[in-house]
Amino acid sequence: MSRDHSGWFVKYKVEIHDLPDVCPQMIHNNQFEVIDVVRGEEEEEEEDAFMVLKIKKKIIRYNILDKSDHEFNHDDVSPIGPKKWGSLNAGFKVCSDGESQSPVDIEAKKAKDQHNDLKRSYKEAPAKLFNKGHHIAVEWDGDAGGIEVNGSTHKLVQCHWHIPGEHTFDGKRYDAEIHFVHKNDKDQLAVVGVLYAIGEPDPFIEKLSESKFKEISAKGTDLGKVSASSITSSKKYFRYGGSLTTPPCAEGVTWTVAETVKSISKEQIESLKGPLEAEFKENARPVQQLSGRTVTQFEDKE
Ligand SMILES: [Zn+2]
Repeated sequence: MSRDHSGWFVKYKVEIHDLPDVCPQMIHNNQFEVIDVVRGEEEEEEEDAFMVLKIKKKIIRYNILDKSDHEFNHDDVSPIGPKKWGSLNAGFKVCSDGESQSPVDIEAKKAKDQHNDLKRSYKEAPAKLFNKGHHIAVEWDGDAGGIEVNGSTHKLVQCHWHIPGEHTFDGKRYDAEIHFVHKNDKDQLAVVGVLYAIGEPDPFIEKLSESKFKEISAKGTDLGKVSASSITSSKKYFRYGGSLTTPPCAEGVTWTVAETVKSISKEQIESLKGPLEAEFKENARPVQQLSGRTVTQFEDKE
């Protein structure tokens, strides 16, 4: 951001064709008032031309460039932030209309006991570390084992992290959360979430070798063989029916959230944030209404 004598202005690099739809949204949201839109210096390619927007308000937390790079982000005040996800794309409608959205606040005292399954049988399989733009993920290639949920075997597909945590316990938000995404042969998803609080390093992340986070790319960095079994088990788990926590926010996801909060070091949090762009370094969706759903709890019998 730069400043001149007449007030604040910001020089954004945007694709020209995005301007008509980006700007009115931003003005409509009262994020700033555009005084003037000046066509700036052009680069070789026309669509890369700079636009200079002179603005009155000086609080700008994001860059229009993101509009062309990302379909959504996690910035509350952005026109593509969580409150707007449902209107960004016809396929994202359920993000705002859905009644079984995730994450949710889990009130332990209200969770009803119910017999449930979560038979975990993870095994080593080749994995790669990816920067997915909105989070860092480990994807397994081959059979990494899985879990039994609702009587059906769900195979482990990938895991990824959110910072801070997405699910809250009695309104308390934790420092991070890992999601293990599993799929059965009908393509139904079952996600296991584990919360972290800052403290000792997490052995699972340590095993992935933190230096790999520095060389991470969109194409994937080889991790060798990785097993999800080193994730410590919890005595108690919560279960409810929810959704993906990022667009398209598809519902029909069986959520299992471990009651035991694990620890993660500050350095590990930095490793997970490091490769992400500014607007995704914090990538937790706000909690959603339960809307009549019940959260149940069960003991792990293993
Ligand atoms: Zn997630």
